Amino acid sequence: MMTSMDRGALVSRLEQVVDASYVLHRPEDVVVYEQDAFLVAHAQPDVVVLPGSAREVSEVVRLAREAGVPIVARGAGTGLNGGSVPVAGGLMLVLTRMNRVLTIDPRSRFAVVEPGVVNVDLTAAAAQHGLFYAPDPGSQGVSTIGGNVGNNAGGPHCLAYGVTGNHILEMEVVMSSGETVTLGSPAVDAPGYDLVGLLVGSEGTLGVITRITVRLLRRAEAVRTLLAVFETIDDASETVSEIIATGIVPTAMEMIDGVVIRAVEAAIHAGYPEDAGAVLLIEVEGHADALPRLMERIEGVAGRHRPSLLRTAESAQERALLWKGRKEGAGALGRLAPAYYLHDGVVPRTMLPEVMRKVQAIARAHGLVIGNLFHAGDGNLHPTILFDPREPGMMDRVVRAGEEILRACVEAGGSITGEHGVGIEKREYMRWLFTDVDLDAMRRVKNAFDPAGLLNPGKLLPDGTQSAYSIQPQAGVWS
Ligand SMILES: Cc1cc2nc3c(=O)[nH]c(=O)nc-3n(C[C@H](O)[C@H](O)[C@H](O)COP(=O)(O)OP(=O)(O)OC[C@H]3O[C@@H](n4cnc5c(N)ncnc54)[C@H](O)[C@@H]3O)c2cc1C
Repeated sequence: MMTSMDRGALVSRLEQVVDASYVLHRPEDVVVYEQDAFLVAHAQPDVVVLPGSAREVSEVVRLAREAGVPIVARGAGTGLNGGSVPVAGGLMLVLTRMNRVLTIDPRSRFAVVEPGVVNVDLTAAAAQHGLFYAPDPGSQGVSTIGGNVGNNAGGPHCLAYGVTGNHILEMEVVMSSGETVTLGSPAVDAPGYDLVGLLVGSEGTLGVITRITVRLLRRAEAVRTLLAVFETIDDASETVSEIIATGIVPTAMEMIDGVVIRAVEAAIHAGYPEDAGAVLLIEVEGHADALPRLMERIEGVAGRHRPSLLRTAESAQERALLWKGRKEGAGALGRLAPAYYLHDGVVPRTMLPEVMRKVQAIARAHGLVIGNLFHAGDGNLHPTILFDPREPGMMDRVVRAGEEILRACVEAGGSITGEHGVGIEKREYMRWLFTDVDLDAMRRVKNAFDPAGLLNPGKLLPDGTQSAYSIQPQAGVWS
């Protein structure tokens, strides 16, 4: 419930805590924050605050709580599930000014960062010590560590190293009361409840993370990257499935299909053959002596699935270019259609060939073009529907096709998200996976952390009230 305090009064109080230039409330300023990368839903916050310290976050949360308004944390806004769209208006806390790498401890191999540090900047800072931060989402050039934790982000190299949650040791969190707590420990196996595990992937619904201690890893001695080219997605999928079945764990195994290849080549010239049905980027790391044998085994498996080319990158530049094509592939899709809807499902790797066939059948049935660039080694699909939203009835077809794809993932023994999280996009689909009793247990956790229900309302848990696709630009709580 809202208090009677009006926006003007709240803004004045906020300006006593945070420099007025970082308190935005004019429509032309807050409109910038109405969307994230889930492009089909938007809603404006009433006030946007960019705090500069954990103390400011704590005081802002206290003021918002007193005013009874929703509090939505936001990093870079690259989330693909609408997680930082303020569906109920209220106050948005943008953490991007808190972007300092506070400590790097090369001996104990951890770093302490503020939540607004951009992922790639942490890796650059760690590289000076021969170390790196493993989770590397495709968005790593812009997305923040706070947002990565919020969504438990994955990335190409999470196949071998694990997702964000496997690399978070400790965090400082501002609770909905405004109090600050420290969870976890830089030492192994912190005693007590695993509240770090609970906060990772909580999508801003349990607290605002203001400091994070992450694990750093030492760079492997050598790396090899193979480009495997196939005429069909089927052959590429079968290769992935068989490599995993033989027990080989590459550090990354990414698939890029023909639709995406042609867009990437036009934009980036990554060196993928334009007539290919699909390519795989397969990377291995380890001791220099061991890699040739490992690559031989991988090439042996790929060779059984009719590759038209197997090419190992011969220089660091060639490797970087192959990866540039993968990491910037989503951006290149802008050449093909005015809009895209990037889905995220996960399936057991053995089911990859079958589910990929279903994805293509769904595209044909709805008369849609679907491109695929994804973390194949994890079974983490990203079917990307290309469309023109101005075409009458198009949005309905896109939404129906997307739902059918996610159903196919669940029926194959997989899940509705591999790494992008639930947000508003998939909260109603949570019912496909969990019973009412399961969901109620989650709601009780939410209530314990956020009894007033002010932290990122309308996300993650189904409430049956609003479809993600019906959320349109709207006035906030005071307008
Ligand atoms: C081109 C492209 C490629 C991508 N590739 C990948 C990929 O490979 N793997 C992957 O997993 N994702 C990927 N994503 C999705 C997205 O980049 C990730 O989910 C990323 O972690 C979001 O970070 P962000 O800083 O943009 O967070 P935001 O989008 O701003 O926020 C994400 C969620 O975290 C919450 N949050 C943010 N900061 C905090 C905080 N300090 N405390 C508490 N909650 C907080 C927000 O409320 C929201 O629910 C991609 C997106 C794009 C556009």
